[in-house]
Amino acid sequence: MTSTLLLTDPLFLRHDPGPEHPESPERLTRILKLLEHEPISGTERRAPRPATEEELAAVHTPRLREYLRGLRGRTEVIDPDTLTSPDSYDAAVLAAGASVQAVEEVLAGRARNAFALVRPPGHHAEPDRAMGFCLFNNVAIAAEAARRQGAERVLIFDWDVHHGNGTQAAFWQRRDVLYMSVHQYPYYPDTGASFEVGEGPGAGYTLNCGMPGGGTDADYGAFFQDLFLPVAEAYAPDLVLVSAGFDAHRADPLADMALTERGFAAMSTALKALAESVCGGRLVMMLEGGYALEALSQSVHACVEVMAEDMKDSFPEGVSREAAAALQRSREALEPYWRVLGR
Ligand SMILES: [Zn+2]
Repeated sequence: MTSTLLLTDPLFLRHDPGPEHPESPERLTRILKLLEHEPISGTERRAPRPATEEELAAVHTPRLREYLRGLRGRTEVIDPDTLTSPDSYDAAVLAAGASVQAVEEVLAGRARNAFALVRPPGHHAEPDRAMGFCLFNNVAIAAEAARRQGAERVLIFDWDVHHGNGTQAAFWQRRDVLYMSVHQYPYYPDTGASFEVGEGPGAGYTLNCGMPGGGTDADYGAFFQDLFLPVAEAYAPDLVLVSAGFDAHRADPLADMALTERGFAAMSTALKALAESVCGGRLVMMLEGGYALEALSQSVHACVEVMAEDMKDSFPEGVSREAAAALQRSREALEPYWRVLGR
């Protein structure tokens, strides 16, 4: 049996947005330290390659690529959230490359599944704009690479507590890449309302479930059961990608959700089972947010245990009234496009 590939590199630690910034190198240091302290069998760690200009160009405009290239070797404030240090550009190109490589290895059957443990994160980066701690959109670049390598339908599931506006923008009018997000709403970056469902040929292929703060493992379980899994199974993707942010953890300082490590493990269990039933287990996760260091490292560890050691977790029962109402809004917006959601 091939193993779970973990792609990471010391260069990711040299992207430094400043001492007060929550997206700190320490995030990844803690994840790697725990994986060393409590090793997980069936994992293989490897250093990634940088993304090519062609791979970046599949998502990002010449204007943005040129602008970011110009920041190489410099400290710059792109916006109040998004800052660079001299190595940030190279780290961002390597993060995008790691995400592509993870997809290549899994599609070629050389790895069972993979987790790209990268910084900076990517899901807020739009085709023409870097923002929200993100320079290049790693998951979108990986999805485009998968399409070029023959995957006809790619599913991106985004469980970061923030809506992935950049990923949504990249595939807004497309049905070959289905984007589905569960996130706190209303919240940064203000996109991700239930009525945002895509446009033209992509209508119905963007799915948003904006939850009020306080969402629990059980609330996310209801989302998986009632909305995500029925649509994902009907879509039958050739590859499942995950924008894996851990800032919906109850300990996270940036948001108000109430997930635990077990909730992340339960989502991983459900996604792994989905991938096994529809696409030969092809599942790739990419690190997005997550700012409570202990919670972040424990949660990543729990997800890798599910991917590599076949640990299983399940959601507790009992959806809250607020979460049920949010779910209902999303169902109503999506019912016209997905017969499986009709009652
Ligand atoms: Zn986030």
